Amino acid sequence: MRIFKFGGASVKNPDAVKNVARVLQHEGTENTLVVISAMGKMTNAFERIVEAYCYKKEDLKEALAFVQDFHQEMMDGLFQKEHEVYNKVNYFFGELSGFMATNTSEDYNYIYDQMVGFGELISTTIVSDYLSDIGIKNNWLDVREYIKTDGSYRDAKVYWDLTKDIITKKVDPSTLNITQGFLGAYDEKTTTLGREGSDYTAGIFAYCLHADSVTIWKDVPGVLNADPRVFEQTELLKNISYTEAIEMAFYGASVIHPKTIQPLEQKQIPLFVRSFDDLQQEGTQVSNSEGIEPMIPCFIVKKNQILISISAKDFSFMVEDNISHVFKKLHQYKLKVNLIQNSAISFSVCVEDKFNNYQHFLNDLTSSYTIKSYENATLYTIRHFDNDAIESIKQKGRPVIRQINTETAQLVIQENV
Ligand code: ADP
Ligand code: ASP
Ligand code: MG
Repeated sequence: MRIFKFGGASVKNPDAVKNVARVLQHEGTENTLVVISAMGKMTNAFERIVEAYCYKKEDLKEALAFVQDFHQEMMDGLFQKEHEVYNKVNYFFGELSGFMATNTSEDYNYIYDQMVGFGELISTTIVSDYLSDIGIKNNWLDVREYIKTDGSYRDAKVYWDLTKDIITKKVDPSTLNITQGFLGAYDEKTTTLGREGSDYTAGIFAYCLHADSVTIWKDVPGVLNADPRVFEQTELLKNISYTEAIEMAFYGASVIHPKTIQPLEQKQIPLFVRSFDDLQQEGTQVSNSEGIEPMIPCFIVKKNQILISISAKDFSFMVEDNISHVFKKLHQYKLKVNLIQNSAISFSVCVEDKFNNYQHFLNDLTSSYTIKSYENATLYTIRHFDNDAIESIKQKGRPVIRQINTETAQLVIQENV
């Protein structure tokens, strides 16, 4: 069995959806489970609906119309006027409105998952109906009946035993299955696995089905040694070991979701990252090889980092007790720590504030600590660095922290503006 994953860029407009069909026709459709994300940037657009619903009701109508119009245009580009797909998609929008009208919860993360998940449900419905229309038989699965999670909304943890049990019993491996990435279910409620989590969904199915391979189809030739949107010259990495891929994902290489590799590594399932445009290219293979090939410096960029420097008000050393206190608070406010550096009296961390909690964190700690922060830092990580690589990053702004170990150099930069 093979698992394919198509992300938002693979289904961003009607031509892209047609191209997904072309990929499937070229690669064959038997014994395949296809995981698909929301179309284009629709998850961001659904996030704006959630924001509007929770905080800025006056923007709600426009935010909703944007998402509805996008899908309307998509369907108009793929189907005849009277096609039943219009009713199916309308039904989902009806469910969304129904949720908004009846919801009484104030838990933002819960609300988010109930609303944002429609991006994937609609996307897979459109692709599945389009494939059927052109004669590619397929089976649409509601992933929430398969991937069971805990109730940590927006960051749900998979109940592996239960999920494996259901998937092995219920998925028919002989046909073409189409399902949603990113989603799971806790009881009857939709959960999400974290932004960009569709890769992880592919990993979960692969693990549970003992798949032969996973292929992630991309708008790039494979995993490159840097993000081509940020760096001018990039090179394709042909082979990457699981360990190296985990390291790269850990440092923030957004091309593969960090949680995806572990389940594949456990079952020794190879992961291919290939271009959905150029089907002749082999792309990148992540497997049980050594390091990376070619062995060249790889750059990972994380923008929007907050650099925080913390020292105790009484000038006491920053050691175990107060560091552990600070970490407890970082954990409590879900601030993701990407780099740590400490000296005798100060402790610096570079964090990401995905859940908008930074102000609460500050309020909580300012009575005991002096906190200085800089909110617009960029963290550059270079795996397999050399001097030229470090110098090239220094050109980008003022380095405020530099940390080097045998394989990895990290620089926190205040960018030139
Ligand atoms: P999708 O969600 O459609 O799967 P993404 O947009 O999330 O795709 O990821 C593809 C993008 O990731 C590419 O267009 C590229 O700009 C970016 N990217 C970042 N780092 C890398 C890298 N090391 N190699 C290749 N692409 C990368
Ligand atoms: N649609 C979700 C997101 O944009 C999941 C994914 O694309 O992987 O985060
Ligand atoms: Mg993506």
